[in-house]
Amino acid sequence: MLAKTKKIWLDGKLVDWDDAKVHVLTHTLHYGLGVFEGIRCYSTHDGKSAVFRLKEHVDRLFESAHIGLIEIPFSREAIFNAILETLRVNGLKEGYIRPLVFIGDGEMGLFIREYPVRVSIACWPWGPYLGEDGVNNGIRAKVSSYTRHHGNVMMTKAKICGNYVNSIFAKKEAIAAGYDEAILLDPEGYVAEASGENIFMAKKGVLKTVPTTSILKGITRDAIMTIARDKGIPVQEERISRDELYIADEVFLSGTAAEITPVREVDDRTVGEGKPGPICKTIQSTFYSIVQGREEQYKHWLAYV
Ligand code: PMP
Repeated sequence: MLAKTKKIWLDGKLVDWDDAKVHVLTHTLHYGLGVFEGIRCYSTHDGKSAVFRLKEHVDRLFESAHIGLIEIPFSREAIFNAILETLRVNGLKEGYIRPLVFIGDGEMGLFIREYPVRVSIACWPWGPYLGEDGVNNGIRAKVSSYTRHHGNVMMTKAKICGNYVNSIFAKKEAIAAGYDEAILLDPEGYVAEASGENIFMAKKGVLKTVPTTSILKGITRDAIMTIARDKGIPVQEERISRDELYIADEVFLSGTAAEITPVREVDDRTVGEGKPGPICKTIQSTFYSIVQGREEQYKHWLAYV
């Protein structure tokens, strides 16, 4: 169960957590057209709290809506400020923030003339999505029998609610088979991404990640590429085959919820030495230092609450 906070921002007003309810004929509930974001805020070393890359998340929410042909009835600035306000009113210094743009009730069927577009923003305390142990010691992943969306089937650049049915199937399959996470291949059979994370591998000191063709353009992915380049680690965006992961020195996943989680095994093959490798550890520690406000160079990534 989620740890409840006090208030949820709904269509411009702060309502009590238990009162943030919708009608069962809410259009998004039936057909999956809605868009969302996953954002984190962290306690900073000076006793304050800051949201990591809030502007980029708000921009991606609006881009997702644009791809989904949904017009958000608030400005980017209003949503940016509403997220900070929701954190303040709940007194949440560290946790997860979930803005959701959805189509309300009033009409049914796939073609509706009027879109009653609604927006909610909830936040709650949430530890690393793949577990503290996963972050520290690595997880076991399985290449999924499910394929990641082709760009002509679903739009992978958008965090569209319905896209995540594919992720849920892959995740359930992986867990049922005794693994922690699923890695999905693209329709051509190359590595795409995990069910809710982007993927990186390191080989002979070079960091590699897949091009953004069939994946979500992760904000953590972008942060990792920037940190690596700033540290002089070469970074390549290149197609990766599943067996390249087996013989990589390091594999790790990145995402707002999962942060930076090492992968110690893929399809029962030990990756590298079967524990977090040096590139992953360096980037992880810099990432935590950044979100705690300790790195002047990356202060522009933080929006203080
Ligand atoms: N891919 C998918 C499918 C995701 O759901 C996420 C999480 N938003 C990511 C990648 C990672 O993106 P980000 O780093 O922006 O959270």
